Amino acid sequence: MEPTQAIFWQTTVQMPDDSNLTPLPEKVDVAIIGGGYTGLSAARTLAKRNTALRVAVLEAETVGWGASSRNGGMVLTGLKLGMQTVMKKYGRDIAKKLFQCSLDSIDTVEQIIKEENIDCGFARCGHLLTANKPKHYDALIEEAEFMEREFNHNVRLISRADQREEIGSDLYHGALLDEFSAGLNPAQYVEGLAEAAQKAGATLHARARVTRLERREKRFSVETERGSLSADSIFVATSGYTGNVIQNLQGKIVPIGSFIIATEKLPDELVGELIPRNRMIFDYKHYLNYFRLWNNRMIFGGRAAFFPESSTTIRRSAEILQREMIRVFPQLQDVKIEYVWGGTLDFAFDMMTHVGAMDGIYYSLGYAGHGVGMATYLGKTVAEAIISGKIKEHPFASFAFPGAPLGLYNGFPWFLPFAGAWHKILDWIE
Ligand SMILES: Cc1cc2nc3c(=O)[nH]c(=O)nc-3n(C[C@H](O)[C@H](O)[C@H](O)COP(=O)(O)OP(=O)(O)OC[C@H]3O[C@@H](n4cnc5c(N)ncnc54)[C@H](O)[C@@H]3O)c2cc1C
Repeated sequence: MEPTQAIFWQTTVQMPDDSNLTPLPEKVDVAIIGGGYTGLSAARTLAKRNTALRVAVLEAETVGWGASSRNGGMVLTGLKLGMQTVMKKYGRDIAKKLFQCSLDSIDTVEQIIKEENIDCGFARCGHLLTANKPKHYDALIEEAEFMEREFNHNVRLISRADQREEIGSDLYHGALLDEFSAGLNPAQYVEGLAEAAQKAGATLHARARVTRLERREKRFSVETERGSLSADSIFVATSGYTGNVIQNLQGKIVPIGSFIIATEKLPDELVGELIPRNRMIFDYKHYLNYFRLWNNRMIFGGRAAFFPESSTTIRRSAEILQREMIRVFPQLQDVKIEYVWGGTLDFAFDMMTHVGAMDGIYYSLGYAGHGVGMATYLGKTVAEAIISGKIKEHPFASFAFPGAPLGLYNGFPWFLPFAGAWHKILDWIE
């Protein structure tokens, strides 16, 4: 039987009811476009720092609808690009600041969860990066030395011989363990963040897709599907769902699909064998798999199709991911897949996250599948920069936000099939 096409995490929360839509205000100080971690964390910070500020979150669908309620729930150290690459590209100073931001992002999530009493199963369970080939393990040895030497950050190598203590699979050639990382239930977290933003004084507006932005002297006129308002500042927090309202930003972000399956509940004994220490796990490939347990279910994700979620890409992904899951864990051969869903990631052309202000419009985009901690953290710190006027000093604003090579992109990612094929080739040869 085919699995249900539905987001498993959303079955664990009461997703916001949009039958009683909050009316739009006429005027606000800050209008935030997008109601995920970035937008809600920013709204919470702005409203808390200055109770006189009028802050509205404008969300096209329902609050938390985007990647923030669909992801793997892994709150990870580092960035999408390896820190060795980041250091080569941007230098030691910037690399150190950016890595520290990644550590701070996990602390920020933990602190918000504590302060706001959000029940989302947050745990510092650590992450495991597994080697698909022996030469990947050699690279992990180098990585461990680099992280210790340059960042004084302790990670631990797990040899193939000891691997079964961490993962019930013989597929890998060892792994790297980083115990700083954490895991949570993403939908419970975004639900809690939305309540926190509201409690702080921000207003949240579902079914308020922004369709047009226009600068009128010092203010912005913001048109939405259900009315317009005016705002002093705008913060774009639309991640992989960035549309053509701000074409300049849309042309810098490529939407890429990522997909997840959730199994039926597994017996305790099997759970203890699969991932005994409850780590968040992802592998070394370009076309990577990521997986973890939640409440005795295996949650197994990957970039099974490059195009964003549709019923076709989701159905195809269910088959591919199930096959991949059984390759990793043959013990799950006869286990039923109950849910499959997809979501959209936001990749910049340099695979980096970017914050800044463009024509007076603030943004934080390009998490590249690494946004649970980072979106929360950048939502907060960009909000602080809106208040202080110091966005240019933000570490993530210290390098250029590139557009497409030769300008060959206008928001439709026609090149994804080629990129997908190229990644498969890289996985084969590297
Ligand atoms: C399947 C999947 C697995 C992932 N796994 C992980 C993981 O394990 N760890 C990790 O760190 N990251 C992961 N990520 C990435 C992470 O989920 C995102 O980086 C993060 O949620 C981004 O948050 P956000 O608030 O910026 O964007 P989103 O949560 O995507 O919210 C953007 C919102 O903007 C709204 N919007 C768009 N256009 C408009 C408009 N014109 N007007 C109003 N609203 C608009 C959308 O409706 C959407 O709700 C994953 C992502 C996916 C899709």
